[in-house]
Amino acid sequence: MGESVDVVVIGAGITGAAAAYFVASAGLSVTVIERGSIASGTSSHCEGNILVSDKELGPELELALYSQDVWRKDLAEHAATWEYEAKGGIMVAPDEASLTSLRALADHQRSMGIRVEDLDGPAALREREPYLNPALAGGAAYPQDAQVQPLLATHHLLKLARERGATIITHTPVTRIDSSGGRVTGVRTPDGVVSAGIVLNCAGPWVRDVARLAGEIDVPVMPRRGFVLVSQPIPVTIRHKVYSASYVGDVASGDADLQVSPVVEGTPSGTILLGSSRERVGFDTSFSLDAVSRIARAGVALFPALADLHLLRTYSGFRPFCPDHLPVIGPDSRMPGLWHVGGQEGAGIGLSVGIAKLLAQALTGQETDLDLAPFHPDRFPEEAAA
Ligand SMILES: Cc1cc2nc3c(=O)[nH]c(=O)nc-3n(C[C@H](O)[C@H](O)[C@H](O)COP(=O)(O)OP(=O)(O)OC[C@H]3O[C@@H](n4cnc5c(N)ncnc54)[C@H](O)[C@@H]3O)c2cc1C
Repeated sequence: MGESVDVVVIGAGITGAAAAYFVASAGLSVTVIERGSIASGTSSHCEGNILVSDKELGPELELALYSQDVWRKDLAEHAATWEYEAKGGIMVAPDEASLTSLRALADHQRSMGIRVEDLDGPAALREREPYLNPALAGGAAYPQDAQVQPLLATHHLLKLARERGATIITHTPVTRIDSSGGRVTGVRTPDGVVSAGIVLNCAGPWVRDVARLAGEIDVPVMPRRGFVLVSQPIPVTIRHKVYSASYVGDVASGDADLQVSPVVEGTPSGTILLGSSRERVGFDTSFSLDAVSRIARAGVALFPALADLHLLRTYSGFRPFCPDHLPVIGPDSRMPGLWHVGGQEGAGIGLSVGIAKLLAQALTGQETDLDLAPFHPDRFPEEAAA
């Protein structure tokens, strides 16, 4: 401690790791400070889907498409290290009414540059996924959807950042963000002070708490809990990420009550992941039999063969939720030098590297590849923040 760097990153989840890598690669000196171990927050309590199919049309979709390119092109040489798999997604519609809605959504998505293939009827579905329930009405295939292993990605991005000169400090909480004359001067921890002109708040669902370490600064990012079920390993039976058309609506909703929409996928180790639930219950880590049994039932409705499978475990995590469903990315005008990245909700793994590349451009005074204005932290009226 006691050193001075260009940028302090608070949080060593995937957002902080990706930011450290891109910012260090751009030539700035970086120190990452994490209160726990690497990826001890949401980045180790999630799934690793990199989706374009579930995004609302608009700035988040543009960011998702941009991030896809960063994963696929800029970071192509690391794909095997973090188990990047361009497996594609399949959205299924249980009945004719939801299939009609899905077709309308697909038409919109095509107009925004998303590749979508209609799957007409159960036979077309089962050609792609032989074990799908034959009673399903039809679906749509999204070849651009991919997945990554979030823990491996977080660790490896930090390794790459370290190779570019970044310092990673773990098991050390940031307890205060210091300022002088209204401008950020660095951060304080129990071990001392790190001076920096830029402090990047990458604290995931804790972004709001960390913003408050700078004083009366509120950023309305809240936790939205989700459970995931992990099955015993089986031979590969599910080839894509498969989810119900209702998932898109649940992602877009801000409802505090429990919502469950099935998302089922296989992993390279043979386990099947069954997700997921959404509910706003604060940072409550207790087990919910209701959520877990509803996820299991919803998964079995898609793949009846899963009914005989044993579960190895369940886990839950907190998505960083923002009331207007857009990530918060950029400088806080209330305290020059303080930047936030939060509110990515259930897309923080997929979006991380695109956000990080844009941040590195912004922090080095370049024009950003995408306009960051829609994500600006200043967009919240004071009453919403309160
Ligand atoms: C069930 C579930 C499924 C999900 N599935 C997907 C998916 O398929 N695809 C996808 O893209 N996203 C998914 N997500 C969302 C994704 O997990 C998050 O958006 C992402 O992990 C956020 O990463 P982060 O680095 O911003 O936050 P985190 O990983 O939470 O990292 C923030 C870090 O900040 C640290 N911190 C907090 N306060 C301090 C402090 N004072 N000092 C120092 N350090 C501090 C924390 O310890 C933590 O490690 C899912 C989430 C859940 C819960």
